[in-house]
Amino acid sequence: MEFYLNMDQKNIRNFCIIAHIDHGKSTLADRFLELTGTIDKRKMQEQVLDQMDLERERGITIKLAPATMTYNLQPTTYNLNLIDTPGHVDFTYEVSRSLAAVEGAVLLVDATQGVQAQTIGNLQLAKDQGLVIIPVLNKIDVVGADVDTRRLELAELLNINPDEILTASAKTGEGVDDILKAVVERVPAPSGQKDNPLRALIFDSIYDDYKGVITYVRIMDGHIRANAPIRFLGTSANTESLEVGIFKPGRFKKDEISSGEIGYIVTGLKDISKARVGDTISIQNAEIKALPGYKELPPMVYAGIFPQEGSSPDKLREALLKLKLNDAALVFEPERSSALGFGFRIGLLGMLHLEIVKERLEREHGISLVITVPSVAYRIFLTNGDQKVIKGALELPDPTFVDHIEEPYVRVKIVTPKDYVGGIMQLAEEKRAVYQNTEYLDDHRVIVVYEMPLFSIIIDFYDSLKSVSSGYASFQYELIEYRTADVVRMDMLVAEEPVEAFSLLVYRDEAEGVGRRIAKKLKDAIPRKQFEIKLQARVGGRIVASERIPSMRKDVLAKLYGGDVTRKMKLLKKQKEGKKRMKAHGRGEVEIPPKAYLAVLKRD
Ligand code: GDP
Ligand code: MG
Repeated sequence: MEFYLNMDQKNIRNFCIIAHIDHGKSTLADRFLELTGTIDKRKMQEQVLDQMDLERERGITIKLAPATMTYNLQPTTYNLNLIDTPGHVDFTYEVSRSLAAVEGAVLLVDATQGVQAQTIGNLQLAKDQGLVIIPVLNKIDVVGADVDTRRLELAELLNINPDEILTASAKTGEGVDDILKAVVERVPAPSGQKDNPLRALIFDSIYDDYKGVITYVRIMDGHIRANAPIRFLGTSANTESLEVGIFKPGRFKKDEISSGEIGYIVTGLKDISKARVGDTISIQNAEIKALPGYKELPPMVYAGIFPQEGSSPDKLREALLKLKLNDAALVFEPERSSALGFGFRIGLLGMLHLEIVKERLEREHGISLVITVPSVAYRIFLTNGDQKVIKGALELPDPTFVDHIEEPYVRVKIVTPKDYVGGIMQLAEEKRAVYQNTEYLDDHRVIVVYEMPLFSIIIDFYDSLKSVSSGYASFQYELIEYRTADVVRMDMLVAEEPVEAFSLLVYRDEAEGVGRRIAKKLKDAIPRKQFEIKLQARVGGRIVASERIPSMRKDVLAKLYGGDVTRKMKLLKKQKEGKKRMKAHGRGEVEIPPKAYLAVLKRD
């Protein structure tokens, strides 16, 4: 306990663990927490920092997670502030915000897999922040881990001496102590001024019904205690600190947190719109400028979300505001649809992000949602010279007023063993990719670079790439520019009524294929009715694909014995007429099960 008091700033080290997904970050964090006695061995569970239900169910890290540890390296006791980060590309904003709160990064590489796309991506982010990098090869306990080759490959990537690379097993604990030693020795102590006015960088936050907004902060300068008058410099909101403390990894109250430390401030703020990740907290009336904060990440994909019957848009708005506190990459704006009512258009970093946002809104806020087909942002150039950006098919103006349309392009780096390059090239062609160049990682593995429409990668590129490469290839991407695209709006008709949620923009030459695929999906997702249901894809006035869901045929003849043909005909005719009536009546009234909304876009 006393170690946490009055820690001299020169004995503090702040660092993140970064890596490609599944390379062992959270497991290594477990070993750190164990070795430093931060978590009692009896209370230990695997990937203990993955505390969200969703993280545990899916076995992935979604949220950054801070933890303060005390570590003894004779004769000194250090405070090590660790932040575990996600590896999936959809949660990159969690990584970049974590990096801004620390001075060093442990770059973990799975020795059985070697350098992967997110290794390169996250390394670049850490370099941009000017952090000290501590490279570590993990999973050396696994038979078949080729440590020597991987060491050379990583040394090459980092342009360092191979001896500087540590080796470890987050599973057995081998080499883990050496990583902490390296953190102490290689990462500089934080450099803030404890006597200056408070400047606390908000890198994350949560909403608590009783305590209001709780901010996760890195104290850059000064110090803060409970019951101090504080101010959010960016939004000018004044309030009072109700409590301060650190993460162990649960919230642990302290009298004071100060320059160089990572901890939390309970702000009591109930007006959520006044709290913003990236803002700076200071003391009221201090003559001080805000920290630069973060460069916001533009959303990659947009979708409409609408409350299902029974939930109000106000409740959804409240839920989105609260969720945004804890998911800074999420953006949203109101949207109205004639069929779905009032809702929001949300912007996200990818399809996994969309799935997680949906799940969190449903689980944490009890709201059931209808989600419309995701879209990228398009630039529309109108014939009258005007320009507008649209984020969904419904916003597309009448084609007669449209001169041309531009779509976002990305540069994609695919890391793969050479053997799979053929399959990847074929996939890339299907996805309208333009080949750029190939770089060699080592004798067996390459980085293939493409430029392609963002649209091509958001939907199912990840799965397709994994399947053509037996799981070995990985990719990362960045936005580059907008380029002309020949896209058209396609509407899906169910029982002859267009369903707005399924409207989408497709490449003109792919409309038929996409229409057929979605119609098939709907066929599987919509239960049969007493009448036949037509499923159609329509572009302009033309039906480009169709399916039908046959009616449930009641066996009206079952009770008839013998061969009274006229009676049989009569019964069948009666049934047919009834169905006709029902069809007219059921027009557009086919209920679409919620699972259909996300299902339509996924590959089989
Ligand atoms: P993260 O996505 O980087 O956080 O990776 P996790 O910590 O969730 O680990 C991914 C998988 O690798 C889990 O099944 C871990 O048990 C396993 N793992 C992590 N480190 C090691 C290691 O050193 N050796 C072995 N054999 N497995 C490991
Ligand atoms: Mg993890």
